[in-house]
Amino acid sequence: VLLQHADIAMYVAKRSHAGIALYDRADDHHSTERLQLLADLRTAIDEDQLVLHYQPKLDLRTGAVKGFEALVRWEHPTRGLLPPVDFVPMAERTGLIHPLTDVVLRSALKQVRTWCDGGNPMAVAVNVSTRSLLNLDFPDRVLALLTEYDVAPGLLGLEITETTIMEDPQRALTVLTRLYEAGVRLSIDDFGTGYSSLAYLKRLPVHELKVDRSFVANMMSNDRDRVIVNSTVALGQSLGLDVVAEGVEDEATRLALETLGCDLAQGFLFSRPVVAPLSGAWSTVPV
Ligand code: C2E
Ligand code: CA
Ligand code: CA
Repeated sequence: VLLQHADIAMYVAKRSHAGIALYDRADDHHSTERLQLLADLRTAIDEDQLVLHYQPKLDLRTGAVKGFEALVRWEHPTRGLLPPVDFVPMAERTGLIHPLTDVVLRSALKQVRTWCDGGNPMAVAVNVSTRSLLNLDFPDRVLALLTEYDVAPGLLGLEITETTIMEDPQRALTVLTRLYEAGVRLSIDDFGTGYSSLAYLKRLPVHELKVDRSFVANMMSNDRDRVIVNSTVALGQSLGLDVVAEGVEDEATRLALETLGCDLAQGFLFSRPVVAPLSGAWSTVPV
């Protein structure tokens, strides 16, 4: 690809949100590679190179699988399997996040339809980026896809970060209310890392809080993290919300969470994200 300096400057400007940037040779190598990746991502979206891996969400007491979180990966033809951090932020900065969200939703709903057809309906949760969620057309898009795949709204969850919600609380409330009323399950992801006030949180139409992995990972060694997990569980209970602890990696943490009264958990202790599991085999994940 022949890249013009102006293209690179423009791309750097977009990345920095500054709207303007001067060409700088130091950005060149880095940006050229990123521009290539951006071009590749367009192709990837059109040619089914984006795949979903699924991580089970378990009931902490019984070990029963309550559903799966879908996590996107890119099967890049030359670079191998790329994690979301390598391309989702780039998609967010460019218009590509909308088709990406679309592809992910389609793929997840198609999987739910397969599980339903196999006689074992399982819920799936999809991560939604800020720009997708804050788009006022988003609820209609989601509902149209639910109809297209003939999936009950209660089998679809959407995970939205606290940061996304706080970026435009009014708009987020409008979009979330529409989805909630349609019966879609809503989770606040990375809970505890943002700055939402309790007063605002109380008004939000959501079903679930997900305690951020950073707190769960250190709760056995760091008292402050343990206090944050503890108070999130208590908060969720008092608001009538499910609480999911993510990033559970060892038995001691699992036991501590169970003792705190946390409902659900995810983490490498139970399973890494894996390619679409057959639902039957997964109702008995060992704890
Ligand atoms: P997230 O939603 O907080 O997802 C949890 C991340 O923690 C996942 O990383 C998962 O693989 C990882 N994880 C799960 N259990 C454990 C554990 O026990 N220990 C450790 N160390 N890690 C664990 P992943 O798949 O790399 O995803 C990273 C982030 O990318 C996600 O964070 C989410 O914000 C974003 N993402 C993933 N899929 C999508 C998607 O389809 N669309 C959008 N917009 N964002 C996505
Ligand atoms: Ca998530
Ligand atoms: Ca998280």
